[in-house]
Amino acid sequence: MRQAEHLESNIFQSVKQLETTTVLQHTLGLTLTKRGNSYAARCPFPGHEDKRPSFIIYPGNKGAWCFACQRGGDNVAIISQILDVKPIEAARLIANEFGLQADCPLSTAERQLLQEQAAQRTREREAVRAFQRKINDAVRALGLLVRTTEQVLAAGGYSAHVELADWLTGHDYRKFLLQVLQDKNYKIQLQALSDPEVIRWII
Ligand SMILES: [Zn+2]
Repeated sequence: MRQAEHLESNIFQSVKQLETTTVLQHTLGLTLTKRGNSYAARCPFPGHEDKRPSFIIYPGNKGAWCFACQRGGDNVAIISQILDVKPIEAARLIANEFGLQADCPLSTAERQLLQEQAAQRTREREAVRAFQRKINDAVRALGLLVRTTEQVLAAGGYSAHVELADWLTGHDYRKFLLQVLQDKNYKIQLQALSDPEVIRWII
């Protein structure tokens, strides 16, 4: 075995022997609750908004698994998926966190880069959540307006009221905006979200 390969296999072995709970608490700051012999936490994988703890961490170095999004694995597999880095980078990051860096030190720049990448992904997830909340608010507000208007229309007797006639001229447009807000493409949703008619009702 060449020297570099030998060091790589060493670092994988060392990191895989660490307690998974300790690795995840230390590296990701997960909050764990005891569940039988294991621990449960909200799933840390990107894209999974875990409402209840679906992520089970097994005792010892047996890794963890999310029963909702079906992702998991050993210490290295989990960290590499969450931070979106290669397994060797994940192993080096963990080794570094636990002072096992003698074989394969992570430079300060590499470490900062990995942490910055993780922070960036967290910010992106938060931005997506905030965007989704705004869309939901807008859909709720506009949906209520559209439904109320349609109830008034169904009841009839509106034509005598000038104000209501004015209101009705915007009805089709609000229905259109409601559809656009629920589009699959976030760029299109964003356009609807910045429409004055939407802003007017959600602020
Ligand atoms: Zn999950």
